[in-house]
Order: sequence, then structure tokens, then C-alpha cells
Amino acid sequence: MFLHDSLSNRLKKIIKTKKVIKLFVCGPTVYDSMHIGHARTYIFFDTLVRFLRSQNYKIEYLQNITDIDDKIIERAQKLKINPLKFAVAQTKDYKTISKKLNIISVDKYVNASSVISIIINQIKRLIDKGYAYETKNGVYFRVRKFKFYGELSGQDLEALRSGYRIELDKAKEDVFDFALWKKTKDNQAISWPSPWGSGRPGWHIEDTAISEKYFGLQYDLHGGGVDLKFPHHEAEIAQAESLSGKKPFVKIWLHTGFLTFNNEKMSKSLKNFITVKDFLTKYNADVLRFIVLSSSYRSSLSWNESLINQSIASLLSIKSFLVYLKYKNDKGDINKKIISSINSFNKNFTSNLNDDMNTPKTIASIFEFINNIESIKNINKKSAKAIEEAIRNSLNILGIKMKINRVPKNIKDLIDKREVLRIVKDFNKADKIRKEIEALNFRLDDTDQGPILTHNNFING
Ligand SMILES: [Zn+2]
Repeated sequence: MFLHDSLSNRLKKIIKTKKVIKLFVCGPTVYDSMHIGHARTYIFFDTLVRFLRSQNYKIEYLQNITDIDDKIIERAQKLKINPLKFAVAQTKDYKTISKKLNIISVDKYVNASSVISIIINQIKRLIDKGYAYETKNGVYFRVRKFKFYGELSGQDLEALRSGYRIELDKAKEDVFDFALWKKTKDNQAISWPSPWGSGRPGWHIEDTAISEKYFGLQYDLHGGGVDLKFPHHEAEIAQAESLSGKKPFVKIWLHTGFLTFNNEKMSKSLKNFITVKDFLTKYNADVLRFIVLSSSYRSSLSWNESLINQSIASLLSIKSFLVYLKYKNDKGDINKKIISSINSFNKNFTSNLNDDMNTPKTIASIFEFINNIESIKNINKKSAKAIEEAIRNSLNILGIKMKINRVPKNIKDLIDKREVLRIVKDFNKADKIRKEIEALNFRLDDTDQGPILTHNNFING
């Protein structure tokens, strides 16, 4: 399999060995409910891991939870609750929503607050090596000492530096030096004792400490949203490589593109976001996964209402095909044409994902497969089962549940009534009943197996 490495800007091969592939994805700063821009990142990485596991790669997937952060403290103080308690509640909410989105592949979630002693130890080592220094406000990383700083994001630091005209913290040696430890002056709710007085860690070192504890200072894959490249991931590289004295920190950097809304990045600070919670009150999680995976993970995804409608229509057509297959009852063995069609579908599906997770092409291959099958006549029960299994396997890798419920009796009665009207050729009345059925959120297809009903449960209510 090949994945695009953001640092070298090249495709890199992932080799299947007995060794476990270690994946670290930057998780949420738990101060607010997850929005669909974040969900895009987490849905993508969940799908990547589902796919790798389906191909028998061994992979360990870890996500950090940033439960110590200025934004959390600020929000908790407004609500007059303890910031760590507030973070616990928010973390629970995050995990519940992830589960609702069928994000099930994370092996371990690790809170920053659980690695404070490692953070302190890392800062000590960085000071000893000359990569960090103490001021009256805290401890900072000395960016000028790490010559690769800026490489990941391709930033020209000198140009950026000259653009900084603001009077900086006088004690800082450089505008880009970032806090490893923040001393707490006032009696703030969260602080830990340290050799530099009581305080709390900076954001970047939290992840490096979690990495070292669980994966070591060199591992395979690190991912997150593209907005984390600078300064967060640059800082992680600087810290880890300065500590270990080895390059590279990780073999492949993976970044998901922005989700934009009216041409602006969807973000909490711009207040133009849609929370996953809100989305899920109206639509099924399958819809969000389908929208996310219909576009290439690296490009930016421009959100609009028509994306929702298109996705629902696509999901509904796959679902109605699955329902249709259930009506196939003829005996006999699988026909050879169907076997070869299934084989080529499986091959396409896998090769598209092997190619840097080309999920749009993968989704297109499902429709091609359905078209192929529809051109084959006389599908018997065994064939139908094999076709259904192939589609189900692929949907499972995409994390799309596609639940099929029983058709309720009142709808079945309407269908019977309509069939009688069609026999007596009262097509006007039969059509009215079709509209009635559709208004109840069912799709009706007249097929060689008779009328087939598919519940549009992608829309709630
Ligand atoms: Zn991170």
C-alpha cells in the first residue's frame, strides 16, 4: 500500500511485516462538541485502519486527548467548574459521538494529564541538551537550535520573523520559541509541581510525552488535520528528534484537508461550524461517512446542503439493490459471470484503497459493480448472497452500516392495495398510493421481483 507523506511530499510504501505499525492521530482538545470538520479527520483515519486490518496489516492506533489547555481552563472557569472535571465530561461526549459515527478502530485514548511525569522528564532532558531554557514565565523550546524547524509546513521562518512586529515576551529568545511549561502565577485550577515551580505543560510536549511512553521516540505513522502542521507538528518533530538525536521522528506524516463552509475553513473560532450532534439529529451517521469518503482526504471539502442530498440518494440506491437481492430465491450454483464480476470488484476496491486511500474511486467501484450485476440476468439465491457479501464487506471497510429494517405492516398493506389497482389498470389511484408511500420515507422500485420497498432511514423522523 502507498500513502502520501506530507513531509517528503511523496508516496511511500507501507510494508506488511510481522511488526506492528504504530499510528498516532492528534485527538481533540476537549472543550467543545465535535464539529463535522473534526469528524472528517477521524472518519478518514478510522477507514484507513479498517482497511489496513482487512488486508491483514497489524496496526496499533492511538489517539491523544488534550485535556489540559488554556481553552479548557477558560471555558471551565466561565462555567464555574473544575477544568479537569469539565474535560472528563467533554471526553466522554467525544467518545460517545465517535461511536455514533462508527469510529471503532482506536485501540487507545491517552489523556495528557496522565503523562505529567514524562513531560517533566522530557523538559529536563531538553534543557540539559541545550534545546530549552527557563524564563520567569515558563520553559521554552529553543527553535533556532533545531535546524529542521519549518520543514514539514514548508515555512520560510526568516520571512515570517521579519513580519512579526509585535513586542514579544522579552524573555523569549525567538518569536517561534514555544512553551514547554507554563508557570502558573495566580491560583489557577490546574497546576502540577515541577523543578520550575508549579505550572502546566504546553500543548505540543503533551503529545511527544504520550508518543514516547507508548510508541517510543521513533515510529511509523502520525496523522491529523492539515491545520496542525504548523506549529503543532513542527514542534513535535523538534521535541522528539532533539530528545532522541535521531531522524526521522515518524516515517509518514498524514494530513487531512480542510472542511470549508462558504469558502472559509470550518472552525470553532470562526463560529461557522456544524456540530456532529446537530447533524445526527437530522441524518444517519452513514450520510456523514459517505460525504467524507466521497472526496479525496487530502483536498479540501466544501460543505453544502446538496452534498447531503446527493449522498442520501447514492446510499439509497445501494441499499435498494441490497434489498432487491434478498428477493432472489432460485436454486442453483453461482454463475461464472458473477464470480468473475465479484473478483474484479474486490480487486478494484482494494487497489483503489492501496493507492493512497482513493475513497472516491472506491465508492465509484461499488456503483460500477452494481451496474455490472444488473446487466446479468437470472441471479439465483447463491449468487445473490455472494454479491451481497462483497458489497457488505466493502461497506464495512468504509464504516457504513446500511441497516435494513423490516417494512412495517401499514406500508405493506399500501403495496398490496396498489398491486390490486394496477391489475385493474386504475393507474391514477395506484400512483397516488406510490406518492403516499414515498411521503412515508420509502423508496419504491418496480422490479422483476415485483415492487421492492427501501426505507430511507438516512433521514431521521
Ligand atoms: Zn497532536
